[in-house]
Amino acid sequence: MTAAGPSTAPPAEVLREAGRRRTFAVISHPDAGKSTVTEALALHARVISQAGAVHGKAGRRGVVSDWMELEKARGISITSAALQFAYRDAVVNLLDTPGHADFSEDTYRVLAAVDSAVMLLDAAKGLEPQTLKLFDVCRHRGIPVITFVNKWDRPGRDALELCDELVERIGLQPMPLTWPVGEAGDFRGVLDRRDGHFTRYSRTAGGATAAGEDRLPPARAEAEEGARWTRAVEESELMSASGGDFDRERFLAASATPVLFGSAVLNFGVRHLLDLLVELAPRPEPRRDVEARPRALDAPFSAFVFKVQTGMDPSHRDQVAFARVCSGVFERGMVVTNATTGRPFATKYAQQVFGQHRSTVDTAYPGDVIGLVNATALRVGDTLHTGRPAVRFPGLPSFAPAHFAVARPADLSRAKQFRRGIDQLESEGVVQVLRSLRRGEGSPVFAAVGPMQFEVAAYRLDTEFKSPVRLERLPYTVARRLPDPDHRAVVDSRGSEVLTRADGTHLALFTDSTALAVLRRLHPEVTLEPLVAGGE
Ligand code: GDP
Repeated sequence: MTAAGPSTAPPAEVLREAGRRRTFAVISHPDAGKSTVTEALALHARVISQAGAVHGKAGRRGVVSDWMELEKARGISITSAALQFAYRDAVVNLLDTPGHADFSEDTYRVLAAVDSAVMLLDAAKGLEPQTLKLFDVCRHRGIPVITFVNKWDRPGRDALELCDELVERIGLQPMPLTWPVGEAGDFRGVLDRRDGHFTRYSRTAGGATAAGEDRLPPARAEAEEGARWTRAVEESELMSASGGDFDRERFLAASATPVLFGSAVLNFGVRHLLDLLVELAPRPEPRRDVEARPRALDAPFSAFVFKVQTGMDPSHRDQVAFARVCSGVFERGMVVTNATTGRPFATKYAQQVFGQHRSTVDTAYPGDVIGLVNATALRVGDTLHTGRPAVRFPGLPSFAPAHFAVARPADLSRAKQFRRGIDQLESEGVVQVLRSLRRGEGSPVFAAVGPMQFEVAAYRLDTEFKSPVRLERLPYTVARRLPDPDHRAVVDSRGSEVLTRADGTHLALFTDSTALAVLRRLHPEVTLEPLVAGGE
């Protein structure tokens, strides 16, 4: 396919294909089982022949990703892209949210490209810090969330208590679709709350294939499971009494969450999750442009870049821009316009990338993610489109940083390259760059959501700009927006510091929340606004 220009796909086809898409990400704390769930979903949908082939992680069965020296050294993956598979009549796009040590702004940005999220909880732990941060972003963006309580095969907390935690800590109404039969550690199956039947699970060897399932009517379930069944029924009735029956409108409005119980490692509950995604999760909707006009799904092609990855292929340093399709059809070879620069961009090389897997994309529809290779001119937040008039989607927000470091050139004779490198990293959103008169142009402060961003920035300054950097960590962990710059002097004098981002936002940095509280008490006249994790 080398034809240039807008696609000629009929609108009905675009609408039909968009309607089949379910584009989501898994949000979780490290070790809750995200990789295992991803593998289990892929296994059910049969995109790969053996569990473990999806993720390259040191010590796991997968292939250790080796496209970047930095990655090799750390044995982790810092790429994020989409895994696409067919399930029933749907096409599911699972976007990877980097976690673990590689937690960074990219993790948040992925959530700008999804239509729903699966919040994965460890049954023994419930809501954990990283889950909360990511949930914050979902809430801020109004992304509907499905909750999957994982590891029910192991001793854990009480199901009712886990549901209460959702209401009490994050104000999210749980609407369980299934209820576990047997407490955590004694997982027999689930009560399907929509029809009252029992789905009984049986283990298969190593959990390597889909779990064995029987469906039993309530009377038989009671006869076979006795007290376990009656307890599940009673608890399910308690949930009904406290507003826990499924209501799709509330799910789509992101004020309530359907909940499922399962065990990814045994593949228990994974089919329910896929069915839920296909039947109830939102499909792509027209995205609003900068003037808040919705771009119809069957309008000419448009997409926005939510991630740019450099150096994925060690043999020739390339740059891949990941874009989510918003309207129309993408066909490889198309010439699209970058709305930011007005320049044409030829999409000769387009790929789907997930972990170590790359395959060429020829056609993509709204909801799909394409990886555009050799996209050196593309930046995070750019809009791509065909046809006239031009369309521009709002840029991606920047997020509340929690790690800070002063950056100085290690080699003063390379100061010019150093500045150029920093401008480049800033424009790509690799790190946020903060400056102040006090610190001067020569020593800006890098701000990041996760410390891995510093390593990527340092690596790139060194290898691409031949200007090694000396990074000196600052003791701050909390950032607030200071709307009135006149208060800068007051804040600066209390052992905290005010710096300014390129977009003009003044950020007040504090060592911790106690330092922030002290300033608030001493200077109630100073307004400090939270920088929501979900951006501004
Ligand atoms: P991630 O860090 O969220 O990607 O978590 P992993 O998928 O790597 O899982 C972390 C650990 O939990 C691994 O040892 C998994 O085998 C284990 N694990 C994941 N899901 C389950 C489950 O349902 N039950 C049990 N018992 N262990 C699980």
